[in-house]
Amino acid sequence: TKWVLTFGDGRAEGRAELRELLGGKGANLAEMANLGLPVPPGFTVTTEVCTHYYANGRSYPTELQAQVDAGLDHIQAITGRVFGDAVNPLLVSVRSGSRASMPGMMDTILNLGLNDQTVAGLAEGSGNPRFAYDSYRRFIQMYSNVVLGVGHHSFEDILETAKEKKGVVEDTDLTADDLLALVASYKAKVLKETGEPFPQDPRDQLWGAIGAVFSSWMNARAITYRRLNDIPESWGTAVNVQAMVFGNMGDTSATGVAFTRNPSTGENRLYGEFLVNAQGEDVVAGIRTPQPITEASRIEGNVAAPSLEKRLPEVFTEFVRVSNVLEKHYRDMQDLEFTVERGKLWMLQARNGKRTAKAALKIAVDLASEGLITRDEAVARIDPPSLDQLLHPTIDPKAERKVIATGLPASPGAAQGELVFSSEDAEVAVAAGKKVILARTETSPEDIHGMHVSEGILTTRGGMTSHAAVVARGMGKPCVSGAGMLRIDEKSGTLTVTGRVFKAGDVVTIDGSTGQVLEGAVAMVQPELSGDFATLMRWADEVRRMGVRANAETPDDARAARRFGAEGIGLSRTEHMFFDESRIVSVREMILADDEAGRRKALGQLLPFQRADFVALFEIMKGLPVTIRLLDPPLHEFLPHTEKDMAEVSAAMGVDVEKLRARAAELSEFNPMLGFRGCRLAIAYPEIAEMQARAIFEAAIEAAKSTGAPVTPEVMVPLVMGRPDFDFVKARIDAVAKLVEEETGEKLVYQVGTMIELPRACLKADEIAETAEFFSFGTNDLTQTALGISRDDAATFLKHYTDKHLLPSDPFVTIDREGVGELVVLGVERGRAVRPKIKLGICGEHGGDPASIAFCEEIGLDYVSCSPYRVPIARLAAAQAAL
Ligand code: ADP
Ligand code: MG
Ligand code: MG
Repeated sequence: TKWVLTFGDGRAEGRAELRELLGGKGANLAEMANLGLPVPPGFTVTTEVCTHYYANGRSYPTELQAQVDAGLDHIQAITGRVFGDAVNPLLVSVRSGSRASMPGMMDTILNLGLNDQTVAGLAEGSGNPRFAYDSYRRFIQMYSNVVLGVGHHSFEDILETAKEKKGVVEDTDLTADDLLALVASYKAKVLKETGEPFPQDPRDQLWGAIGAVFSSWMNARAITYRRLNDIPESWGTAVNVQAMVFGNMGDTSATGVAFTRNPSTGENRLYGEFLVNAQGEDVVAGIRTPQPITEASRIEGNVAAPSLEKRLPEVFTEFVRVSNVLEKHYRDMQDLEFTVERGKLWMLQARNGKRTAKAALKIAVDLASEGLITRDEAVARIDPPSLDQLLHPTIDPKAERKVIATGLPASPGAAQGELVFSSEDAEVAVAAGKKVILARTETSPEDIHGMHVSEGILTTRGGMTSHAAVVARGMGKPCVSGAGMLRIDEKSGTLTVTGRVFKAGDVVTIDGSTGQVLEGAVAMVQPELSGDFATLMRWADEVRRMGVRANAETPDDARAARRFGAEGIGLSRTEHMFFDESRIVSVREMILADDEAGRRKALGQLLPFQRADFVALFEIMKGLPVTIRLLDPPLHEFLPHTEKDMAEVSAAMGVDVEKLRARAAELSEFNPMLGFRGCRLAIAYPEIAEMQARAIFEAAIEAAKSTGAPVTPEVMVPLVMGRPDFDFVKARIDAVAKLVEEETGEKLVYQVGTMIELPRACLKADEIAETAEFFSFGTNDLTQTALGISRDDAATFLKHYTDKHLLPSDPFVTIDREGVGELVVLGVERGRAVRPKIKLGICGEHGGDPASIAFCEEIGLDYVSCSPYRVPIARLAAAQAAL
């Protein structure tokens, strides 16, 4: 087996398509080498070795050692350096890289191959002893941390002490001799902490590092990240071993990161940061404030030293060329890592850049307009749930802003909450129902869980490409980074700015679009749905086959649904309309009535209210289809339950409290979900359905007149078991329609259909379709009844099923294709067999879930219906499913 693939010098054994085998980093290093771009030579140990490692008690395939040696030979041949050689030593980096990018999750080791002999060779050969000892002390620290488990702070304390003693601030102020002394202290520290001297044999170092990368696949950070991002454990990581290039060789050396377009706004401009005379992660770690790559991308407030464009113009020109090559080649915005060694540019990483939803839209629309991708590709590239970020509020431009501090606009959108200063506190506060803003000096991978539960993130150090910024953008959370005027004292739980002190629990607002930190809870506004959003949604609508409707009952919901592009209402739940204070009295009178006459009288009082509700909906929807479901919940939900409420209601209604209590007891159920609800109400008390039908039909006539658009209401009967119960209710509805036609002299056009939400209804769908004109699959109840799981009680045990991989996902979030899905397919087939043109839709939570929407497309439903805020997501997901 080939366990190792090499790259470098204009060619590679791998390529971008081998991502599964080589990991993202390795595949793209190979691709860049194939493109003739400047990539330091190296080799990739494949993910199959990782799989083998874990399948065989953490051991390697036997051929691996020889293949790694051959890989080293390859690097040596290209660089002309020799691993472990005292005069001309080859140094390498050992880098992890899995299939999906896992930023900051796995640890990279730089400068491997240094020891007491080779460091002298490096000093001599480079003519720069300072650089050589700087590299050595960095290596000891990284290696000891990652492989030997000696904490970073051990070394940082030593470094700080050395700087204090010398009276300097920057690492760069330390001389070669200082660093040599530091190396000695570091080695002593390692001996003390581990009981062993720091390993001097480069081959031991290499195998130690490779082993550490593979073990880090199972470290807590990596496991958390995989869980949060649905990355399977089985993928494994690859290891990249690559010749070192040095950004810390002096003033014409540098290290940096860049995006080919702005990852926050999507603006088509090279965007990035770098540090002169620095190595590796220095930029990201927020050790010094980085400098911008271009003059134009200088962020307001970043007055640090000049841009790469000014400082190293030739390198800049070359970098622009390389960025363009890569963007055209990958046809997407690239996230690049590079190093400049004495004026020569080296590329160390390229990948499709993470971006905010706003930037994703702009980049996709721009790339399509530039002709790099097609419109369909643009549609396919947007992650539907990410649109959610754009549908939520930003700070009201008219609101007064009491600015506490300004940092960098690292991830857009506004968020507010109580200040917390650690991830642990964030989790505790959120568990107690609070909303929090996590304020940290700088975040690290250990903070992922805290960031996840926070509304937004605020840091006092680090740039636009710092850990906090990158992770927040990925999570779609607002973030302000590098607000340097703020002082955070985690121990005392305070945030100080020019003499003012904010404590944990104080409310602040952050504006990730401007970088402002504001006092209190500032007013927010709804977003604009124009520009790139509208363009991309238009392209999506052009390829979409299924209709998208909304579940809406209030005028506000209906208006939001229209704004978000809903093509009708797929589910209007009438019970919500009954809870209104002005009506609940009549509802209760109806429930307490002793006979039909009493019920009809109370229902008569409800009629004008219901009619007005429907008129409002029909008018807003202007002729678009509106599906109205007859009353569904058990009646006892409308009765008071506590003694206190009963006393109040009985006084207000003038009914005997005993009677109230007796009726409540009579209606109470052991299992309301399977109780006296749905069409069972209409079967027991047909007058309820009759009143609702009358309200619907009278409203249809009225709204048709006021809007000039004909209204075709769809009356939906819930929870039918078969044709007989459906027909019973339908007969009442049709009778009312006839009556209304006679009374008004108007002709009504309407449909009566049913919600298919019981397994029996799926089985009897052929018979039901003989008289039902449409089906809407109510997959919430269908999931409950098919799986025998009460959704409200599922929390305690369902998690065990998903954790133990007994169910692929929560069946209430994504439709259970194999079970519930199969029932839906039966219903579709049997219904269509009898009534080929029957209108088929889905309502409930699944209608807004992209994976479930894909299923609906596959089985050929006519439309999905979901909550108004999910309508854009559903439109996009339906388009992607149709592509
Ligand atoms: P991550 O996956 O966390 O980004 P990387 O493997 O990309 O880790 O390494 C982090 C940084 O280390 C790189 O961005 C680069 O600056 C530096 N680095 C890695 N390999 C080399 C190398 N061969 N020469 C110089 N710097 C390197
Ligand atoms: Mg990193
Ligand atoms: Mg990297």
